[in-house]
Amino acid sequence: MLHTASLDEIRAGKVTDVYFERALAAIQAGGLDKNVAAEITASSLPRDYDWAVLAGIEEAVAALEGLECDVDAVPEGTVFYPGEPVMRLSGMYSRFCVYETCLLGFLCQASGIATRAARIKLAAGSRTVVSFGARRMHPTIAPMIERNAYIGGCDGFAVVKTSDYVPLQASGTMPHALVICAGNLAAALEAFDAANPPDVPRIALIDTFQDEKFAALIAAETLGEKLAGVRFDTPSSRRGDFAALMREVRWELDAAGFEHVKILASGGLDEYNIPKLNEIADGYGVGTAISNAEVLNLALDIIEVEGKGIAKRGKLSGRKAPMRCERCRAHWVALEGRETACPQCGGPGHSALQPLTRAGKLVAEMPSPEHIRESVLEQLRMLTAQPEQDHRAEADGS
Ligand SMILES: [Zn+2]
Repeated sequence: MLHTASLDEIRAGKVTDVYFERALAAIQAGGLDKNVAAEITASSLPRDYDWAVLAGIEEAVAALEGLECDVDAVPEGTVFYPGEPVMRLSGMYSRFCVYETCLLGFLCQASGIATRAARIKLAAGSRTVVSFGARRMHPTIAPMIERNAYIGGCDGFAVVKTSDYVPLQASGTMPHALVICAGNLAAALEAFDAANPPDVPRIALIDTFQDEKFAALIAAETLGEKLAGVRFDTPSSRRGDFAALMREVRWELDAAGFEHVKILASGGLDEYNIPKLNEIADGYGVGTAISNAEVLNLALDIIEVEGKGIAKRGKLSGRKAPMRCERCRAHWVALEGRETACPQCGGPGHSALQPLTRAGKLVAEMPSPEHIRESVLEQLRMLTAQPEQDHRAEADGS
């Protein structure tokens, strides 16, 4: 048996911290139920993040549908900032009291993964990034991890089951086990080539037995035009200057006439070390950095009771609007009903919050994963307009 909760159990409020059950009992017995508004906000973000990507809305809806309250949320894939509400629940507190645990759980982990994937995609620029880290996590959540890695900006994912949620085929290369079972790289490649359909890219793993340079040449000579790429999964004990090793292999492949063969890297990659490899690598497989991404510390707080603003110490009272300028890229938080023009350019602003459910009924459309990913990539382009222009200039010049 699996030590997991089912959707029915989540919807029945079983995945809750017991103190919510006990609070609910006290509220009901004591006649303390109130009409409240509560907001979900991150006061701060992990590491050196200054923005994050909201994800997990579609799964959160599975728990929210049928709850007798109104929910507003920013659309899935919204780039947001500390202090901005990303979701607001309005209604009698007893209706959603026990769902705080699961709601935050859906949003905090999915957003952490989408945010890390977005940072890594940004670091990789035009190079492909594939999510390879399912093996470090509980298998029941592998598709959730990869779906959120994809909407954060990853180009692909490794796990077959994820195709049920993202309309793409899983991608991958070959494991060391195949090379070891075959006895050598050439035999492994020949067997792989014979057994797999032609649309599967032939990508040779070149760090099993030999030096990467000689393994890359063996792979290219074995498969010729059919070889799409070589993957460096070089162990850290042998890595030395990883970029220099890749440059050397690129040189030898080009010299031998295999300019079409792409250079792919995997193993311990993240947004901090990827930029050092960008001059030579064509793509990356990223594992634990994405699948074990820090969760965001989103919290749910009551900010209004019976129509009057009130909040605990350290939190701002009243319904807040996460404002976006329609002219420049400015963002600010305004009290709802007292929205101001853009503090930077004076342009008109709008709240990023949109109706999600009304009296338990879903009223928003759930965008496709491709649509969400495109929206994230567009927001990332706006965030980093200058570096992106530089990158295009560099590409044009080469
Ligand atoms: Zn503005």
